[in-house]
Amino acid sequence: MTSALLGVGVTGSRPVAIGNAFLLASGPLTSAENIPADHIGAELARLDDALTRARRHLESVRTQIPTSTPMRIAEFIDAHLLMLTDSALVDATRDLIRQQAINAGWALQLQRDSLVDIFDQMEDDYLRTRRDDIDHVVRQIQAFLANEPRTDSLAAADIRGRVVVASDLTPADAIMLRHRGVAAFVTEHGGPMSHTAILARSLDIPTVIGVHNATRLLRQGELLVVNAETGTVLAGADSRMLDHYRRRVESADERRTSLRRLVREPSTSRDGVPVVLLANLELPEDVEAARANGASGVGLYRTEFLYMNRSGLPDEEEHYANYVDIIRGLDGIPLTIRTLDLGLDKHADAVIETSTSLTNPALGLRAIRLCLKEPQLFVPQLRAIVRASAEGPVRLMIPMISSIAEVDTVLGMIAETRRTLRRQGLAFDPLMPIGGMIEVPAAALTAGGLARRLDFLSIGTNDLIQYTLAIDRIDDAVSYLFEPLHPAVLRLIRYVLQAAAASRTQVSMCGEMAGDPRYVPVLLGLGLRELSMQPGSLLEVKDVVRGCHIGALQAAMDDLMERLDDLTPTELLDALEEANHP
Ligand code: PEP
Ligand code: MG
Repeated sequence: MTSALLGVGVTGSRPVAIGNAFLLASGPLTSAENIPADHIGAELARLDDALTRARRHLESVRTQIPTSTPMRIAEFIDAHLLMLTDSALVDATRDLIRQQAINAGWALQLQRDSLVDIFDQMEDDYLRTRRDDIDHVVRQIQAFLANEPRTDSLAAADIRGRVVVASDLTPADAIMLRHRGVAAFVTEHGGPMSHTAILARSLDIPTVIGVHNATRLLRQGELLVVNAETGTVLAGADSRMLDHYRRRVESADERRTSLRRLVREPSTSRDGVPVVLLANLELPEDVEAARANGASGVGLYRTEFLYMNRSGLPDEEEHYANYVDIIRGLDGIPLTIRTLDLGLDKHADAVIETSTSLTNPALGLRAIRLCLKEPQLFVPQLRAIVRASAEGPVRLMIPMISSIAEVDTVLGMIAETRRTLRRQGLAFDPLMPIGGMIEVPAAALTAGGLARRLDFLSIGTNDLIQYTLAIDRIDDAVSYLFEPLHPAVLRLIRYVLQAAAASRTQVSMCGEMAGDPRYVPVLLGLGLRELSMQPGSLLEVKDVVRGCHIGALQAAMDDLMERLDDLTPTELLDALEEANHP
């Protein structure tokens, strides 16, 4: 029998995937069992065997990490390997098996609990973050003890071509799984604008998030159809349905191939207006996709990944080397480097305390706020960006601005950085453009002042919508309220464009809205001429741009803005379609 589970779809150019389920466990993998005294030796041997298999497994994962991976995944795996031999974990577990005559899985669980208690009481932030590593390692050994192909280290079995079903995935998980050829993701939690969802879109992995109880309702190994366009996960599809979805996969492949013809074509509307299409980068290796899809530059390089999956912070040289690599890969097209935006759902072990301990991280110490509070995070990055500007066209972009004073502080720090570099005889481009993101309604409503201070503004709709509509972008319970065409959002975008026009400051958009072909006529009608998106959307958006008559869309939008409160999103889109193709 076919069953369908519903969630929220996240799709790039691959709307559908078919593959066998790979369930990642979230609950405990073991329960307490007493064992007879004469089985203790065998239980100890079973533990040793699981430890050996876990070690071999981690070693093999380590060799599979591509050298292009910017994060310290290798370091992270090394730490886990060390724990497999750590006496605090292993010898103590052996003692528990002997003394209490209990099964190995449960002994591990008890030892894990007492270690975690100790870690939780530690003053040292770094050591406290190690408790997650203990959990990962313990679960992995337990998985081998249980002979289950599930582990939450994501380092199990062959994942190629399979649909990973998990309670939740971190951005780092998503990257690791992409490297390992995963076909699709299904998660129980997470909103459509969570960073994991954005990453899945950018990695072009069909994903359905917010599927309640997915790990309970779906079975290990069963064939699933993940329809990221409709947000549905089908289990037990019959052959007729499977044929239908296989054709969908094929036609999406054909569409991608046919769009290739646009790579070298200009991004110009029917009435001759050029529209600049830029790429959003999550990782250095996305440079290739940006170029292959004809991006005229990078409108957003999210640098958070340099800070994730590691214990320490990247130093100036590491930042610098990373940026210079990307500049070289881009071969003369501009790179917009966004300064660190940690907090909310993106965390770094080294700053876990400041960025996660708040009750409402979306309104707390995130992005530029965190950077201004923790100069050791920010200064090496600032210096590296300013230095990298000597190597090619670079723009620096500040995230999550909520006041003009913040911008003045950052501009002061950049001026100071330039003075220091000059004294040190290090090269930089003194004219490197500095821009700010409009992600908070307060920034939108002070766009005039920001525009006078900055060289460009970029509207980050993922956050602008979150903060305007008061919906947590990672909470799937409120994702139904996420509406880019909400009149309040459109008015803020319009306001930013008008306010920035007074000082002739350029405005682009780099939120997910910019890469959604449905919204392109609205954005062009509002006056945007520069859109930045995940590379997989560039050609689809170019196709829409080339079919638009911007003059007609602008006239229609002027009129529609007057009646916005009385229009549904569909009516708005229909009216623009009518204006575009009368
Ligand atoms: C945004 O908020 O729209 C944006 C581009 O930034 P991020 O998604 O990384 O928060
Ligand atoms: Mg943002």
